[in-house]
Amino acid sequence: MFPASFGYVAAQSVDQALELLARHGEDAKLLAGGHSLIPAMKLRLAAPRILIDLGTVPGLRGARVAGDTLVIGALTVHADVASSDLVRKYVPGLADAASVIGDMQVRNRGTVGGSVAHADPAADFPVILTALNASFVLQSASGSRTVAADDFFIDFYTTAMAANEVLTEIRIPLPSGGAGTAYAKLPHPASGYVVVSAGVLLSRESSGHCAAARVVIGGLGSRPHRSVATETELTGKQLTPEVIAAAAGKAAQDTDPDEDTYASADYKRHAATVYARQAIAAAAKRAVG
Ligand SMILES: Cc1cc2nc3c(=O)[nH]c(=O)nc-3n(C[C@H](O)[C@H](O)[C@H](O)COP(=O)(O)OP(=O)(O)OC[C@H]3O[C@@H](n4cnc5c(N)ncnc54)[C@H](O)[C@@H]3O)c2cc1C
Repeated sequence: MFPASFGYVAAQSVDQALELLARHGEDAKLLAGGHSLIPAMKLRLAAPRILIDLGTVPGLRGARVAGDTLVIGALTVHADVASSDLVRKYVPGLADAASVIGDMQVRNRGTVGGSVAHADPAADFPVILTALNASFVLQSASGSRTVAADDFFIDFYTTAMAANEVLTEIRIPLPSGGAGTAYAKLPHPASGYVVVSAGVLLSRESSGHCAAARVVIGGLGSRPHRSVATETELTGKQLTPEVIAAAAGKAAQDTDPDEDTYASADYKRHAATVYARQAIAAAAKRAVG
């Protein structure tokens, strides 16, 4: 399968990418790792006339701490997210997610920003980044704005990002002491994409009670599902196996899972409770003060 013919520009700066986006409008597409866009072009689901490669723009890779925030460059590849010392120290749940994406080739080429911008409902990063209360820095010719993950993922392959914006950074609030993060995934056996997954951020008081929790389930619908019922069930309680199981049992409450050829709605509902329980238990274990 071959894509329709297209032009290619290796952008040298975000400003140049923005200028090219403005000049070419709907004919242009940004290219990051190409692991979602190029397959779509080969299937003729996308046929941009010009690709603007962000891979040649300096300064968009790597992780750093700025104040109370972990900042990850949008062009950081999945493998580098998975192995980053800062990610593993502060938000190991993000490393959990990055390390189970696709295969080694995908993890060495695909970028966290590309995954977020693509907003595939079966992707891993949108789920864990929503759990981590991340926000996304979007740059355009008129300046930059920051959108919280809760407001960013809108529908299948649809985000709050405008066509004239470039995602430059992912910003994650550093969890406080006593916080734990984790991600657990039921992968599709053929593709490795999410059938159902769970991302968790929770914090524990010195008494052992859960002070706060964010529990997000992937694979159930068009966007990550915040399980408020599970969060409420955990908050204020000792994180015993019984409490965790009861809370996880509500993971798919308030949602009507989409079925597909691989998984029925009932199967997904059940899998959501299983993977939520795993992720909550792992986050609770990491939340040791
Ligand atoms: C075989 C295979 C298995 C995979 N398995 C998984 C899996 O298990 N889990 C999973 O989550 N993903 C999986 N993926 C998808 C993979 O993670 C992709 O790399 C990712 O979804 C897209 O990142 P990319 O850098 O390749 O983006 P690209 O393909 O280059 O771009 C994707 C889209 O995002 C836009 N875009 C990219 N970067 C930016 C930016 N900085 N600002 C604005 N717009 C931007 C592009 O214009 C395009 O529309 C798989 C892919 C393949 C090929």
